[in-house]
Amino acid sequence: MRQFMTALALVAACSMAAVTTTGAQAKPAKAAAKTAVATHSTTGTVKSIDSNTLVISRPGKKGGDMTFSVNGSTQKDGTVGVGSNVTVRYQNEGKMMVATAISAEDAAVQLAYASNVVVVPGYGMAVAQAQHQVRELAELIEKRGGEVRYAIHPVAGRMPGHMNVLLAEANIPYDKLYDMDEINGDLSRADVALIIGANDVVNPAARTDPTSPIYGMPILNVDEAKSVIVLKRGMSVGFAGIDNMLFYQPRTRMLFGDAKASLVKLVTEIKALS
Ligand code: NAP
Repeated sequence: MRQFMTALALVAACSMAAVTTTGAQAKPAKAAAKTAVATHSTTGTVKSIDSNTLVISRPGKKGGDMTFSVNGSTQKDGTVGVGSNVTVRYQNEGKMMVATAISAEDAAVQLAYASNVVVVPGYGMAVAQAQHQVRELAELIEKRGGEVRYAIHPVAGRMPGHMNVLLAEANIPYDKLYDMDEINGDLSRADVALIIGANDVVNPAARTDPTSPIYGMPILNVDEAKSVIVLKRGMSVGFAGIDNMLFYQPRTRMLFGDAKASLVKLVTEIKALS
């Protein structure tokens, strides 16, 4: 049944606690995926939706045109407005993977109370032109007593020095920018690694998967941070065209949406915390 698109199921979770307990999660996750596969049609169209279950079709293993449906309303990848604290479960190449979304409100609380935040900008920040909102968010965290540093991968973005140029344009102090080699040994101390539109440069497959096309490429080891929040629009791949297991690790939360729009929400939420 290779022509059938890989089925994906999103199971809306009522609370974050329900989706973060790894041991208790394993069995429900399997059950959800089986349901999704069983309800998948020959054309890959979403067939079965109820208020708690979202079934997704995903053509090809590279995750191109992902479509999904929320309560019967079909949407395209890039508009994942499925609300807060949603668990994403799908089967891809026989593997079970779980990515968990977070609301801007919950992400803001996490950032507001973090002492050590590392921002990782990538191509998506450039696309969204979100550098000014990055600075605004960082200043709010700093005012609350947190430290914010920026981890710069040498090939982040699409041209050499791309991230440095954008961050400088937003008047982010240069001494807060750290090269990959300078910060990698320290990432395990970060309370939050905040990934803003980066993908390939934080893909742990470069370290762990000898079959990956990026195996051996030095990456920012954000998977070692205490928690990870990823700002991107959906589950699309980056330049290298490969999936990223970082997005499915238990300590990672996905804040879906355009990076600038998400940062504006984070800033608003943190200001509201006073
Ligand atoms: P990346 O792997 O290309 O990923 C960028 C991510 O940004 C995408 O997965 C995309 O996901 C997200 N995105 C796009 N628009 C967005 C928006 N408006 N808001 C939020 N997210 C958005 O980027 P990277 O981690 O920076 O890695 C750079 C890649 O480019 C590397 O593979 C590198 O080798 C290659 N490259 C670099 C250079 C250079 O000189 N720097 C030159 C050529 C190639 P969604 O679509 O799901 O949002």
